[in-house]
Amino acid sequence: MIHGKRSMECTEKRKLFKEYDDAVQAYLKRVRELSDLTKISPHPEWELTWQLADEARKVCDISYKQLKAHVAQHRCRPHETAPD
Ligand SMILES: [Zn+2]
Repeated sequence: MIHGKRSMECTEKRKLFKEYDDAVQAYLKRVRELSDLTKISPHPEWELTWQLADEARKVCDISYKQLKAHVAQHRCRPHETAPD
């Protein structure tokens, strides 16, 4: 095992974090669209945007669960050392 800060980094966790981050950004974008459409009522695109926001929220949820499951199984939390 190599000692030092780099050995503690987990590339899989970093990848999952990036996916979670991207999913949250996409969800935020949809919610903002929805928020803007709410100002114009009734709006024909509201229903579709609502559905897209709901899908984006589900992607966030899946990403979060994957990240949480990985950290629990791999034990690669920042304060712990990576397994050999
Ligand atoms: Zn890991």
